[in-house]
Amino acid sequence: MKQLTQQFVDKYGQNGSEIRVFHAPGRVNLIGEHTDYNGGYVFPAALTFGTWLVIRPREDMTLRFASTNFELTGEVSLENIHYDEKDDWMNYPKGIVEQLQNAGYGVSTGYDFLYHGEIPNGSGLSSSASIEVVTAYALLTLEGHPTDRTEIALLSQKAENQFMGVQCGIMDQFAVAQGKADHAILLMCDTLEYDLVPFESGDYRLIVSNTNKRRGLVDSKYNERRSQCEAAVKALNAELPNLTLLGQLSKEQFDQHQHLIEDVNVRKRAKHVVEEIDRVKRSVEALKAGQLKSFGDLMNESHVSLRDLYEVSCRELDVLVEQAWNIDGVLGSRMTGAGFGGCTISLVHQDAVNGFIEQVGKVYQEETGLTADFYVCGIGDGVKEMKEG
Ligand code: ADP
Ligand code: MG
Repeated sequence: MKQLTQQFVDKYGQNGSEIRVFHAPGRVNLIGEHTDYNGGYVFPAALTFGTWLVIRPREDMTLRFASTNFELTGEVSLENIHYDEKDDWMNYPKGIVEQLQNAGYGVSTGYDFLYHGEIPNGSGLSSSASIEVVTAYALLTLEGHPTDRTEIALLSQKAENQFMGVQCGIMDQFAVAQGKADHAILLMCDTLEYDLVPFESGDYRLIVSNTNKRRGLVDSKYNERRSQCEAAVKALNAELPNLTLLGQLSKEQFDQHQHLIEDVNVRKRAKHVVEEIDRVKRSVEALKAGQLKSFGDLMNESHVSLRDLYEVSCRELDVLVEQAWNIDGVLGSRMTGAGFGGCTISLVHQDAVNGFIEQVGKVYQEETGLTADFYVCGIGDGVKEMKEG
């Protein structure tokens, strides 16, 4: 924190106003993949690493932006906030300022911003939600507005949807805003009902492994999956006229009516969704009962289902997961995020962590020619102000 504050002063000088420091985490989804848009549960957790923001008010109406992660710096007037491709990453904080203004949370003065991100960009650990939420929380705090975490998540999602033009759901911003150390968040994305579930991992650690694969095709496949889920509902409506989302079905109901879905692929997609939602519920029960091993088994089942039924895995993800499964001390491993690249999440005994990174990394390189990155993660708090000491 000292170092960052020093960097801030080196860059912007002193102006007599207080320098404040905020932090928002990244997030990982522990289980519950492709359930959110089907009215089902997701089960993310905030990470111990994320995005720092050092910020200080100015005497004029200018916003000045810098990030230790990007060369590009710049300034804009508070009276003229609009999307500009040239502004690249700075559009994220600008989008937040616009949303705050639209919501009636006026920004009364200019600010100097310095960001420092610890999350790899574009890997599915949601650095974008992290920078959005830390910006919204800091500005609301400094302006003396209320800091309702659910509202901050919604504002941030809106900024990403409308200002950035990225059609993300609410999970990322919600986890980053509402996270709590050593807790996972059981979230129903439709209603925003949620429950903080203690995640007591004892001697086990979460390891995020990044395929570092460039993701192509994600959007088109994602849209195809969404329409297949809608097609499944439509077919089931022949006997279940009130069904609007697959998440409303129990496993038993699905088994009873699945014959209505003629398209084999559509039936497979629906089966994944219904069973994955059931796995999320069983995960919560397992964790509440302290049965980490059962949770690990559910992670493994989730991967197999995403690979074989939902078909959103890829060779790189499969190599990482299958290697993880081979290692003693691994309770579970699965792809996390939308798929076709991105990261896996594994639950690994602390004594096996170094061996895991060495072994999985080595085989991954041999099999794919790519180098994976590994992050040993703790579950951290949602966005907050950081004070020294
Ligand atoms: P993900 O959210 O999966 O990490 P995205 O493509 O959604 O990937 O968001 C990454 C983008 O967010 C970056 O390219 C950059 O524009 C912005 N961003 C994230 N963290 C920072 C940061 N610390 N400083 C500046 N921009 C950031
Ligand atoms: Mg993102």
